[in-house]
Amino acid sequence: MDFLPLCLDLKQRPCLVVGGGDVASRKVQLLLKAGAHVTLVSPESRDDLLALAEAGTIIHHARAFQHRDLDGQYLIIAATDSAEVNQEINQLAQDHEKLVNVADQSAQGNVIFPSIIDRDPLQIAISSNGASPLLSRVLRVKLESLIPNAYGRLAGLIKKFRSQVKGRYESQAERRRFWEKLLQGSIAEMVLSGREQEAEERLEECLKQAAPKAKGEVYLVGAGPGDPDLLTFRALRLMQQADVVVYDRLVSKPILELTRRDAERIYVGKARADHALRQEDINKLLAKLAKENKRVVRLKGGDPFIFGRGGEEIETLAAEGVNFQVVPAITAALGTAAYAGIPLTHRDYAQSCLFVTGHLKDNTMNLNWEALAQPQQTVVVYMGYMGLPVLCQKLMEHGVPADKPIALVQQATTPEQRVFTGTLSTLPDLIKNENVKPPSLIIVGDVVKLQEKLKWFKSESE
Ligand code: SAH
Repeated sequence: MDFLPLCLDLKQRPCLVVGGGDVASRKVQLLLKAGAHVTLVSPESRDDLLALAEAGTIIHHARAFQHRDLDGQYLIIAATDSAEVNQEINQLAQDHEKLVNVADQSAQGNVIFPSIIDRDPLQIAISSNGASPLLSRVLRVKLESLIPNAYGRLAGLIKKFRSQVKGRYESQAERRRFWEKLLQGSIAEMVLSGREQEAEERLEECLKQAAPKAKGEVYLVGAGPGDPDLLTFRALRLMQQADVVVYDRLVSKPILELTRRDAERIYVGKARADHALRQEDINKLLAKLAKENKRVVRLKGGDPFIFGRGGEEIETLAAEGVNFQVVPAITAALGTAAYAGIPLTHRDYAQSCLFVTGHLKDNTMNLNWEALAQPQQTVVVYMGYMGLPVLCQKLMEHGVPADKPIALVQQATTPEQRVFTGTLSTLPDLIKNENVKPPSLIIVGDVVKLQEKLKWFKSESE
């Protein structure tokens, strides 16, 4: 090990930065964040550094580096644009047993700045021991996306309760078990979803009880329109914690593969009117599983509250006193719009947008046709494939011009995405002989004209 990673308390410590460019500026910001007293030495400096000096936040000497600058300094950063000067500072500082960091490759100081993931009070530092700062940065970006901001709050909660838990559990092993359980359980989940007050109350409760008790919960999670990259962080986190996953037909396979490997998976999907499990039974199943103290992820296509019957499911849970939370997601309309290149609103074409269901009942659609026929708007029709001819016919009957652009997008955001465009009078015939696969979404409005120009997502079938 060339360098030992340590966390340094720099509060009130005198630190010297030599140099006035971008690197110096970044280091000054970092040192200030850590509470250091910063002195800057540089004949010329960036405006932000000068502003800090003017405000009295840092001390600034507008001249070249002099040996005596090191006097009394705890940590020195050589960040000039001259390799020789940096080397000189490094040598001198090390001769005086000081901590020194050299910002370029000209010399190796005895301090390296790691890439930092800041989830205060939690800090994660990555260092490649100087081998490749770029690799550290790439890794940092990866970890940034894996560790939600809320982990800082979680660390805050642990800090707050540490001594109380210490008093409650004598042995270190017991304490470790307590925290391990907490970090994977519903209290941590409460903190991560912003319910800190509740989490604290529950934690207090747990500490009073003989042993912390696991409690079942249902997470109603939107899985987005298909592309796994469109999942939210919270969705992914809950999917990886679940004991049971209850999922729909709309949930794509690559997304299902992101759920915890050893979780039980229950399929309750529906294919149009052909229900695998009736809605009432799904509602009851969720409550039953949670009451067995399981963490249940109810995974739904798109957003749970847009034509997802999510409301009905949580109504039952609420009535049965089961804890739950809802995780929003990108609904099919938004995923389709982005991936097909059809902006849903546009200054020139549409000032509003309607989401409607085109579900056929007795061969017709129960919709407010006057409202749908208004100009300067976009209408997005979910579940409308079977009713496409009826939809086009009805819109024309209510005064929408026959040449109004319309698109039907199959399996949007997935590699199987296909986009069919036409007009109210042509599209139904146009797709008659196409093997359109579900799910598909319909978009009506002048914005569809932009599709040719704005499409960027090339699916395999195109
Ligand atoms: N809750 C879901 C919608 C459920 S209703 C959401 O917010 O997206 C089911 C309908 O959604 C389908 O009939 C289809 O019209 C639409 N849909 C869902 N995913 C889709 C996709 N990837 N591509 C096109 N349409 C989709």
